[in-house]
Amino acid sequence: MNKDRMSTVETAICDSFRSDPTRLNPPSSVCISGRPEFHHQALWRHLEKAGHAVYRFTEDLALLDAVGACSPSAIVYEIPAGRERAVQFLNQLAKLNHDACVILVGPEIGAESVAHCLRSGAFDYLTVPVSSARFMTSLHDGLVNRHTFRVVRNLSQELAQSNERLAEERNALTHWNRTLLALNHLTQVLTASLDSETIVRSLFTGLATLVPLDIIGLACAEPHRIMTWSRSSAWTCQEMQVREWLLRHFPEDAKPRTSSRQPLDLVGAEALSREDCAPLSSFPAVGDDRHTMTIPLPISPDRQGVLYLERREGTFTDAEFKMLSTVGTSLAMALRNASTHQMIQELALRDSMTGLLNRRALEDVLAREFKGGFRYRSSACLLLVDLDYFKAINDQLGHLAGDQVLRGTAALMRRAVRDIDVVGRYGGEEFGIVLPHTDLDCALVLAERLRREIESQEFEADQGIVRITASIGIAHIPAVTIRSVSEWIAAADSALYGAKASGRNRVVVHVPDQAVLVEGATVMLAAP
Ligand code: GH3
Ligand code: MG
Ligand code: MG
Repeated sequence: MNKDRMSTVETAICDSFRSDPTRLNPPSSVCISGRPEFHHQALWRHLEKAGHAVYRFTEDLALLDAVGACSPSAIVYEIPAGRERAVQFLNQLAKLNHDACVILVGPEIGAESVAHCLRSGAFDYLTVPVSSARFMTSLHDGLVNRHTFRVVRNLSQELAQSNERLAEERNALTHWNRTLLALNHLTQVLTASLDSETIVRSLFTGLATLVPLDIIGLACAEPHRIMTWSRSSAWTCQEMQVREWLLRHFPEDAKPRTSSRQPLDLVGAEALSREDCAPLSSFPAVGDDRHTMTIPLPISPDRQGVLYLERREGTFTDAEFKMLSTVGTSLAMALRNASTHQMIQELALRDSMTGLLNRRALEDVLAREFKGGFRYRSSACLLLVDLDYFKAINDQLGHLAGDQVLRGTAALMRRAVRDIDVVGRYGGEEFGIVLPHTDLDCALVLAERLRREIESQEFEADQGIVRITASIGIAHIPAVTIRSVSEWIAAADSALYGAKASGRNRVVVHVPDQAVLVEGATVMLAAP
């Protein structure tokens, strides 16, 4: 056969034969089984002289024991009683899972019976009397056959082992493929959102499907607050400690602290040791015991974060470390985008000169309050505040002085109202103040106090002290004549017009078909 075309198995067998030229020579172990007369044949002595180890048996049971224990190379079995006895023996032998070459020796039993014996596991059937040459040829061929069988069996075992290894590698690759898909999905979800709460929710859900984790902690420090999030299904106390641990890594001036889930358990945090408070590395790092990981999140120059991961059972592998560091990079980018988006949105809603809400944002607040008032029949008031004779300040002192007065008035109004009230610049030198959950009496008190404060305020301009007054119109809901936000604004505007018309520096309340003038603590009706 052309060597190039040989199969792997054939090549292996030939190589094996070549490398072991004594394969058919001693030492082979041959079991001879039969009557005592059979044992005394000269043939076996020749075998022994040639160096083969020959063992003689008269009982099948003893022979089977020896086969089970010693794995002989060949068995020569005498069957005086015909094919049934031979087949019975071969069946018993087959159960021992042996690889000996079995040569049967017996009387003429016919071709069909011989074929039956061969099918049952015998290598050859020699009819007595057996010549030495015929026996040796049969033994030689049988041993070659056995050797070939062994080589093939070893190769099959090796093949099975490499198949097993391949299956393991395939499983590992499938696992990594799934992990990479989950990682890809997570980074896409993170960067697709511009809302930090959504990002954090996606992070916590995604991380849990990516790798086994017992505790996830996240802290983000903004200029005046620290947000922390954490998740642990089974380790509530440790979860609290992690939050406190995260907080300790940010400067004290970042207070007040804000927790999106629940307040920190400071008692639980006492259990943390001092070393735990070492400054964070600016690179992702695994703990000494590889049960924890910290990933710093450089969100922006004034916003820093840190992601803390902990696994109680098992440690983080290098591959997981790299993968989770990638998640950290995507997370920092997503939080940066969200923070920029939030800033832009806030800027879009603010008046750049005074820092108050602009007209659009103020109208959104009015719409929200109007809807709430309509649904729950709750009271709310709108104050329109217009500075009196403001044009004169511009004309006499210049626009810059006018701007300074506007900024001063805005700051004064912000200070004068409650936290729940919303102040906006409605346009020019006109401001709107929304007072949620406020009845008319309270609004009147607040408006009058505001009017007096403006009147008594000394605004500082480059040219010196400037004094000014303001007229205020109030419209209250619910009111039968106010059925929309624009009607609410129009009502406040008509009250403001009433305040201007009746001499300025005063508060006027809109009432259906008329306006009420308030001067000091006295309420008077005024013509619209
Ligand atoms: P009234 O008592 O009737 O309200 O008189 P007024 O002068 O306050 O009202 P008027 O509507 O005649 O003039 C408003 C002035 O406000 C005119 C405008 O130039 C000025 N103004 C509007 N916006 C700004 C601003 O942003 N900065 C400055 N300096 N002036 C502004
Ligand atoms: Mg004015
Ligand atoms: Mg005006």
